[in-house]
Amino acid sequence: MLVKNPATDTVLTTLAAIELDDLQKMEVDLHKGQKKWAQYPLKERLGHVVKFGQLILSHKQELAEILTKETGKPISQSINEIQGAQNRIEHLVSNAERWLSTEHVTSIGATQELVVYEPLGVIANISAWNFPYNVGFNVFLYALVAGNAVLYKPSEFATLTGREFEKYLHQAGVPEDVFRCVIGDSRTGQQVLDLSLDGYFFTGSYKTGVHIAQSVAHKLVPVQLELGGKDPLYVTEDVVDVQQAAVSAAEGAFYNNGQSCCAVERIYVSDKIYDQFVQAFIDEVASYPVGNPMLLDTFIGPLTREAQLGVLQEQIQDALLKGASLRLGGHIIDSSGYYHQPTVLIDCNHDMSLMREETFGPLIGIQKVSSDEEAIQLMRDTDYGLTAAVFSSNRDRAMAILKEMDTGTVYWNCCDRVSPNVPWSGRKNSGLGSTLSSQGIRAFVQPKAYHLRQ
Ligand code: NAD
Repeated sequence: MLVKNPATDTVLTTLAAIELDDLQKMEVDLHKGQKKWAQYPLKERLGHVVKFGQLILSHKQELAEILTKETGKPISQSINEIQGAQNRIEHLVSNAERWLSTEHVTSIGATQELVVYEPLGVIANISAWNFPYNVGFNVFLYALVAGNAVLYKPSEFATLTGREFEKYLHQAGVPEDVFRCVIGDSRTGQQVLDLSLDGYFFTGSYKTGVHIAQSVAHKLVPVQLELGGKDPLYVTEDVVDVQQAAVSAAEGAFYNNGQSCCAVERIYVSDKIYDQFVQAFIDEVASYPVGNPMLLDTFIGPLTREAQLGVLQEQIQDALLKGASLRLGGHIIDSSGYYHQPTVLIDCNHDMSLMREETFGPLIGIQKVSSDEEAIQLMRDTDYGLTAAVFSSNRDRAMAILKEMDTGTVYWNCCDRVSPNVPWSGRKNSGLGSTLSSQGIRAFVQPKAYHLRQ
């Protein structure tokens, strides 16, 4: 398997995908290892996870360079991701004991009723490349703390980072037969689906998510899917500062080159401030430094996957044919890497694929609206349900709009944000189940009800 640098289209290294025999042997080892791991006191398991976090932080620069080389993520954003993902560990340390301890529900006469939370067993974590620290930690750290063993299949576009996770978890004291990273692409992913595992936790595209859910349905084990989105942002005419709203919206749309599951993917703006907002938005996006992701001031690097350049071009051409106006960018940048100009199209509508299908790149469509009712109708007009945002100075007005959203997360005056304190979940084609918060810990356990009579 070739690992390429998307900034230069050169090969970083060649890795052998795991052989089926080795994968099956690993499965047996993990089942054995999990039994012992589940017996470790919770504090000890947490201690290994804390140590892992410290190791990751102390190798931050080197790890950020690995991530940037294999995904093209600008180095400052790689560093931010590594630092930011530590909040998952802090959340686990402060909450795991509370959420995993036995619940003494009731005593009725001589009968006591308890709930004990037992680990699932060995779980598969098939992951994505765009935020491997965040989306990886959301799953494998929570799973480990709850007493599971993990077979981690990083994306083929973030394999080097996945190997570092394995190295540092083992160095931190997590036994080798409790966490394993398997190298390979979709073929290896498919082989993982054929193993006898006790849960499948997936982060990636809708198409693969549905395939995974269908493939493992007969096993009747938990399946959790964190999938894509087409997240809307509505800017009302009463925002305190149109300029600031444009700056925040642009960051939500273009951070990590637009390759975030909860990136702002479509913007609706009140007709009363439309021209002013569009100008401020374009000025902001035009100021982003584009180029070598290894440089600290770069904000837009190459796309991670070459094929996505074609998707962006198709969405742009389709929007132009259907009446959109190109206000910034529009083209693939002539270079050896997978660079696309940050692109802004205005006067968009829902006949355009740009406003309906996941873009996952540095491209955004803006549409004018004349009322909250129209904005709500357009924001809801999607197969996805990950996040939705409103920028307004009026909390009641924003809350009334957000109540109408069929999404797992809603934002008022912020966007493109994930917090370990609240559940992260997608509705409709954006997924199934929750990570993070108490629910994110509970995702990795199964309740056992005890009815005890003296
Ligand atoms: P992808 O679906 O192409 O791949 C994800 C993983 O699935 C990879 O590890 C891949 O090797 C594996 N895979 C592919 N085919 C498989 C098969 N047949 N069987 C088993 N495994 C298989 O997705 P991607 O391009 O890596 O990720 C981008 C997508 O992920 C976007 O849609 C993004 O929105 C979504 N995402 C969602 C969240 C969230 O929390 N909701 C977070 C990050 C990314």
